[in-house]
Amino acid sequence: MTIDPSLERYSRQMRFGGVGVEGQKRLRAAKVALCGCGALGTVLANALVRAGIGYLRLIDRDFIETHNLQRQILFDEADVTANLPKAEAAARKLRLINSQVTIEPVVTDIDRTNILSLVSDADLILDGTDNFEIRYIINDAAVKLGKPWVYGGVIGSHGQTMTIIPGETPCLRCVIEAAPAPGEAATCETAGVLAPTVNVIASYQATEAIKILTGHVESINRDLIFLDVWENVHKRFSISKLRERNNCVCCKQNKFEWLDGAHGSQTTSLCGRNAVQVSHRVAGRLDFDAMANQLGTVGSVSFNRFMLKFIVEDYEFTVFPDGRAIIKGTNDPDKARTLYAKYIGH
Ligand SMILES: [Zn+2]
Repeated sequence: MTIDPSLERYSRQMRFGGVGVEGQKRLRAAKVALCGCGALGTVLANALVRAGIGYLRLIDRDFIETHNLQRQILFDEADVTANLPKAEAAARKLRLINSQVTIEPVVTDIDRTNILSLVSDADLILDGTDNFEIRYIINDAAVKLGKPWVYGGVIGSHGQTMTIIPGETPCLRCVIEAAPAPGEAATCETAGVLAPTVNVIASYQATEAIKILTGHVESINRDLIFLDVWENVHKRFSISKLRERNNCVCCKQNKFEWLDGAHGSQTTSLCGRNAVQVSHRVAGRLDFDAMANQLGTVGSVSFNRFMLKFIVEDYEFTVFPDGRAIIKGTNDPDKARTLYAKYIGH
């Protein structure tokens, strides 16, 4: 049998029975939308471009900073100096790695208004984001469009992943009904993140992507996998019954609350004050004691029962018990939302 010479570079991958020549051809025909090009996103992009997918859309709103280099494997010091957006810098690197792959960098903030157009022509959506708000928007879009997606999340030395095939496996909302309240969950900013954790979780996600794109849905992971690489913990949570058991708002009732804007944050620029208000709906009240403990490690915090003040970098946060925050030091709603996600949570 003669093999297409352009497939030669994948000979070791094609020799693996799960892929084969047929699987490799399927990979080449595949289009993937990757949401987020930070820690998980760079590892995912690297794996899939080397594996020989046909088309990769890389979506990210951020610029590269020096403290990203510890774990975001496609970037280097020259990218920081050049002040490049992550999607653009990653695309340049990826084209050097494999010129057979079409790479489309998109520098934008993913939200409910643009997600459908960003993913509607993709065969698969990958989660390389760092916040739950965007994950629920991805989940709504994926279920609505009937497209598979792979969730991954990391913090400190632990991470988790699950694979969603709409209509077949539980969706994100079947498993995690609501996002952690702002301030409740640790963020990478407060708890840090160990690079090997990222590599392990993203490698699971990339493997799931290869299974799906080569037509091996029967081999996908149907559990929620949880790993802690520091504490030596490997756990699998059986979630396969959750879809039948629950009347999921998203994948059973087909109500797409995150796409419709019933959930999620809203921002208002406070004119003339160099401040932006971020309204984030939470059930109940924020726990200022717990938040002060976490935020105290990165900035200065004071609070009373009406508000919490937090000063970090050049910004001053005033957070209210209902989740609303005013962030002083910027007029840019995108920047304010990023800061909110970074320090307060998602
Ligand atoms: Zn569901």
